[in-house]
Amino acid sequence: MNMKKALKNARRLSERYRIDDGRRFKLERSDPGDTGGFKSEDKPRAKEALATGIQALAALQDRLYAQDRWSVLLIFQAMDAAGKDSAIKHVMSGVNPQGCQVYSFKAPSPEELDHDFLWRTTKCLPECGRIGVFNRSYYEEVLVVRVHPEILACQKIPTELVTKRIWDQRYDSIRDFERHLTRNGVVVRKFFLHLSKDEQLRRFLARLENPDKNWKFAPADVQERDRWDDYMSAYEEMIRETATKDAPWYVIPADNKWYTRLVVAEAVIDALGDLDPEYPKVDKEKRKELAAARAALIKKAK
Ligand code: ATP
Ligand code: MG
Repeated sequence: MNMKKALKNARRLSERYRIDDGRRFKLERSDPGDTGGFKSEDKPRAKEALATGIQALAALQDRLYAQDRWSVLLIFQAMDAAGKDSAIKHVMSGVNPQGCQVYSFKAPSPEELDHDFLWRTTKCLPECGRIGVFNRSYYEEVLVVRVHPEILACQKIPTELVTKRIWDQRYDSIRDFERHLTRNGVVVRKFFLHLSKDEQLRRFLARLENPDKNWKFAPADVQERDRWDDYMSAYEEMIRETATKDAPWYVIPADNKWYTRLVVAEAVIDALGDLDPEYPKVDKEKRKELAAARAALIKKAK
């Protein structure tokens, strides 16, 4: 695997999906069925590119871990059945599990509801040298909570603080929080897996028809599907308000899983490539120590 070439490919393939200034972002301009010039018959080529990408990612992660200074936070948001789980599984398949921390965030527990909305995810931020993955995140607070304001009523926020400005205030908090993370060595990259409503229907039906997939189907998913347009507006506004140079969103076409995984992998490689992590340098003093240890080991073995 040629790292230089891998980094170049990663940049080329991922940059068209990167939103680092959300102000003029329009979701309708992104096509969930886009495969970036790969045709269906090119699938084996895309799979090969993913395999090479995974090797590059593993090599970069090894250095990130050894350097133990920076960390990377990958946030995944999407409608049900968009392929978050499988993208995470495939993209992270080559990395050393010790250097990777994955958390899924579901409806908050009573303990979590006793705190501010950034509390539960903050506890799960990646340690130095690690790649942290959030499968859903604090962004649910401007998505599902926005679509279902009744959830807000359960949040124990003093009533006089719940005003029309609450969504803008949440965007502010999120932007500030991500700026804070960036300033402290956490590289933030966010992925919206953009699925079409038709493809979601196909996947739901497959989950109902295939007994091995039945477990993935939740009746509540159908209710959320009924609110599709409200969710799309919430996603669009979220991206407009929180896509920044330091913490960009990637709007990834999600109707073809093989392509989704490839673009996610390339975007992660691109982020790590920008960091360019290095193995810790051994100074003169340390080299002397190592030489002495070597000599002692050999002497004792004789
Ligand atoms: P799967 O692919 O298994 O369906 P999932 O991420 O959808 O994975 P679920 O257990 O189905 O997991 O659902 C998690 C649910 O929790 C989602 O409907 C999500 O909107 C909801 N949720 C997450 N965070 C919050 C939050 N802060 N407030 C309210 N609901 C939340
Ligand atoms: Mg679900």
